[in-house]
Amino acid sequence: MPAKFDFHVHTVYSDGDGTAAAMVEAAGARGLGAVALTDHGPELSVGTPREKLTPMLQDIELAREDAGIPVLAGIEANVVDESGAIDVDHEFIEKLDILVAGIHKLGKATDPVELSRDYLGRATKAIERHEIDVFAHPFYFHHYLAPHLLREELEGFVKLAAERGVAVELNMKYKAPDEDFLRLCLCEGVKLSVGTDAHTVAEVGRVDWALAVLRRVGAREEDLILKQFL
Ligand SMILES: [Zn+2]
Ligand SMILES: [Zn+2]
Repeated sequence: MPAKFDFHVHTVYSDGDGTAAAMVEAAGARGLGAVALTDHGPELSVGTPREKLTPMLQDIELAREDAGIPVLAGIEANVVDESGAIDVDHEFIEKLDILVAGIHKLGKATDPVELSRDYLGRATKAIERHEIDVFAHPFYFHHYLAPHLLREELEGFVKLAAERGVAVELNMKYKAPDEDFLRLCLCEGVKLSVGTDAHTVAEVGRVDWALAVLRRVGAREEDLILKQFL
């Protein structure tokens, strides 16, 4: 049974309900092996304001002091446009333990195939350009987009993720990606991460769905990103 961990957690710095200390305490109480605090980057309407980024890291530092488990300082950066740009700079990223990135905004396409290609293009550029550790809720944008893409398009993304050392997240909130996609990841050697996307203390570390999926797709301990951060 792979170790339980949660590398996608929000706090009051963005749109979460709990403080860093409260989220970390809940993670420890649920028996997690490690937790990462990953508030939204500044470009999202509910994101962490730029002037709060440094206080946020200081708060994580304090929460870490009392924690019985490893606590990673992270952020869920936004991929902001077609060029794959993200909303935090290199200098800030250097201060983090883990960089999670996700797509929360796309262009105006309404056709699902076009929308999915827009997503794929942005995701590809983002992982080419930045040292992203975890790609959050892959191919989920209001609904799950991967079925609208060709197998070779998904393969191209997965191969690039493997090459760039980007882990793919099993996101508890959106129950994405699907098992076919995860099997493809395992086949190409992409590491997997687990994130509840918790916004409340009650949600932190509730990873049962992810553990069941990991078991079904045959993921082993060495397929998980956890070890890299311990
Ligand atoms: Zn997100
Ligand atoms: Zn999130």
